[in-house]
Amino acid sequence: MALVHRRNSPKLRLPEISDHRPRFPVPLPANIYKQPSTSTTTTSVAGSDNITAGDFEKLSVLGHGNGGTVYKVRHKLTSIVYALKVNHYDSDPTTHRRTLTEVNILRRATDCTNVVKYHGSFEKPTGDVCILMEYMDSGSLETALKTTGTFSEANLSTVARGILNGLTYLHARNIAHRDIKPSNILVNIKNEVKIADFGVSKFMGRTLEACNSYVGTCAYMSPERFDPEVYGGNYNGFSADIWSLGLTLFELYVGHFPFLQSGQRPDWASLMCAICFSDPPSLPETASSEFRNFVECCLKKESGERWSAAQLLTHPFLCKDMEIC
Ligand code: ATP
Ligand code: MG
Repeated sequence: MALVHRRNSPKLRLPEISDHRPRFPVPLPANIYKQPSTSTTTTSVAGSDNITAGDFEKLSVLGHGNGGTVYKVRHKLTSIVYALKVNHYDSDPTTHRRTLTEVNILRRATDCTNVVKYHGSFEKPTGDVCILMEYMDSGSLETALKTTGTFSEANLSTVARGILNGLTYLHARNIAHRDIKPSNILVNIKNEVKIADFGVSKFMGRTLEACNSYVGTCAYMSPERFDPEVYGGNYNGFSADIWSLGLTLFELYVGHFPFLQSGQRPDWASLMCAICFSDPPSLPETASSEFRNFVECCLKKESGERWSAAQLLTHPFLCKDMEIC
């Protein structure tokens, strides 16, 4: 992949923690999963509300996640290749609600070039919910880091610009992603960078709404997510996405999760202590001053001091190679 420099990178697995939100039944609208996409693509199955599992041939597994499996599939009639995310049936209403939110957000973001394109969804008789998306043929940044090594600053600038374009779009629509990390950022052969996996995303209220539930991967969580009162009052989700972006870029540059030594396997408590009680990590001296400052603007422990996605798009790190910023 052109975005990647060749250097060795260690394998790093980080723990997940479960959702501590109260559980209560949430009724789902009857046919939400069959509503047509607003995509204007004419060569795809998008827009059809009659797609079923039988329309697709499974080609391979692209990834496994908490709630399901993502397959590379071919639409039998058109031979177009897609990614099909199958969220396995779970009687827990929280899981249903998350899938519903994931579909709703993807459907609303089809005109954003930095969010993975949604093409439709359907429910299988088993209760599994399938989400049809564009296939991102270069995979995730996590895979790229493992297979081709750490990223150059030029590539990270492209990655950052893509993620920030996506976040600016989402935040302007009151959507917080809440799980920005290398495995949720996808790339295609055209070097387009797109945000994926809205499984724990949230529509924020009009006022700054606190959402202190533990969702997403705890390693990328911001300090105020653990301790809202100390680090900037209410956790609003938007500045937390910026913290996660800073950690993501840092990790892609150095090859391991910033708060840990290379190869260290943390437990939840030590990660929480490192994020809340130590100073934000600094990039090594090999990084340019622009890149170091960019990451500093993301990794302010006080959430209110972090730059917004729109502000970061004007940062010299993203603008230094461009005539117009
Ligand atoms: P997790 O719980 O680990 O965050 P998940 O169940 O929410 O995962 P996703 O993050 O949506 O699932 O996808 C899992 C993996 O599948 C991704 O990291 C990526 O490698 C692959 N994948 C997902 N969507 C696509 C796509 N559209 N094109 C190519 N690969 C994809
Ligand atoms: Mg994911």
